Amino acid sequence: VDLRSLPILDNHAHPFDPSRSGERGGEMGDPTRDVYSFAREWSISLDPPARGMMENTLLVRRVIRDLAELLGCEERPETVVEVRDSLYRSDPAAYIRRLFDDAVIRSVLLDTGSPIPDDEGYEVRLADLAAMLPCEIQVIHRIEPSIRRLLQEMPPFDELVDRFLSSIDNAVDREGAVALKSVIAYWTGLDIHIRDEGEARRAYAAMLARGAPLPVWYRSREHVPDERVVREFLFVQAMLRAGERRIPVQVHTGFGDAPVIDMTTADPLLLRRVLNESALRDTTLVLVHAGYPWVEGSSFLANQYDNVYIDLSEMLPMAGPGAMPKIAAILEMAPVTKVMYGSDGFSIPETFWFSAREAKRALAQVLEDLHGRGWVTESEAWDIARGVLHDNGARLYAVPAAKESH
Ligand SMILES: [Zn+2]
Repeated sequence: VDLRSLPILDNHAHPFDPSRSGERGGEMGDPTRDVYSFAREWSISLDPPARGMMENTLLVRRVIRDLAELLGCEERPETVVEVRDSLYRSDPAAYIRRLFDDAVIRSVLLDTGSPIPDDEGYEVRLADLAAMLPCEIQVIHRIEPSIRRLLQEMPPFDELVDRFLSSIDNAVDREGAVALKSVIAYWTGLDIHIRDEGEARRAYAAMLARGAPLPVWYRSREHVPDERVVREFLFVQAMLRAGERRIPVQVHTGFGDAPVIDMTTADPLLLRRVLNESALRDTTLVLVHAGYPWVEGSSFLANQYDNVYIDLSEMLPMAGPGAMPKIAAILEMAPVTKVMYGSDGFSIPETFWFSAREAKRALAQVLEDLHGRGWVTESEAWDIARGVLHDNGARLYAVPAAKESH
C-alpha cells in the first residue's frame, strides 16, 4: 500500500512565523546557525538540548535524509541544513508549498494558544500565515490563556465565569473556532475532579483573600490548591459549553514539554471522573498526542466511551520509529473512525511535512501487516487510511472540503 498521494487533514498543529523560523536555534543567516540549530527544533524540551543530543536521535537523522531526498542534495547534514535555510530564506512561501505539496497537506487546524506573547514572547498573525500556506486553516481555541488573564485580573466569581464562557463563545462566533483545547494536564494533571459551584466559589474566595500571586505558567499546582479547584471547575464549564456549541474539546494527554510536564499525572486513564460524569457525555473529547506513551489506554478509552477520539500528533513525529508499533497498538481497540492524524507542527514547516510523510509510511506498514494477518481487506485498508489521514477529522470538526488543487 502506497499512501503518499492521499490528502492530509492535520487536526492539531500550531501557527509559525517563517520570518522567525529557527528562533529556538538562532536566526537563519546567523553564522553560528548550524546542524545543531536545526536539530534543536525537533526537541520538545523547553531547555535547550546539549550539542550532539538531538542530532543523534533516529528521528533527526531520518528527517535530514528525507530532506536530502526531497531537495535533491547530498545527505551530509551540514549541506542539507544549508540548502534548506537558503531556500526557506529566499522564498518562504515556495519552500512551504514544496513541503506541503509533497505530503499532500490540504487542511490544518491550528491551536492559537501557542505561541503567544505571554509564553513565547511573540505571536503569529494568522492572516499572514494563511497567505503563505497552500492549504486551508481552521482555528482551535485554547482555554488557558483566557484563564490566565482572568486570574491576573481576579474579577468577582460570577463575572469570572461569565467572561470565561464569553471568551469561548467569541472564539466560536468571531474566529470560527472548530474546537477548544486544554492543557490542564500541565496545571492540575488529568486526575480532574468534578467541582460544584459552591466549592469553586469558596476556593476562588480564598484566592481573592490571599491576594493570590500571579499564576506562573505550568508551575502553580504544587502550592496553590485553591487554584486547582478553580481550574477544574472552569475546565468542566468549558466542556459543557463545547457540548452546547457542538464542538470537540482537545485535551493534552501524555508527553509534553520537559521539565514542566509532570508525566506521572498525564496518563489519559486518569480522566475517569470526567469521562464518567453524565453531564459531560455530550461533549466530544479528543485525546491529543494519543496519550503517548500510554497509547493502549487511549485505545481502550476510545473503545469504551462514545465521546472519546484519538489524535496522533506529537507522537508523530517525535516517537520516531515508534510510529508504526504505536499506531498498531491504537488500532487494537479503538474504532478506526475515531483516530485522527495530527502533527503538532510548530516553529518550522518541516515538522508538518515530516510528520505527515511518516504517518503515511507507518500507517501503510500497519495496514499491510493487518491485511497479511487477515484482519482487514485491501479496500478496508484504504478506507481506514483515508479516514485516519483526512476524513475522520473532516467529519468530527465539520471542516469544509478542501480545494482539490492550488
Ligand atoms: Zn500542540
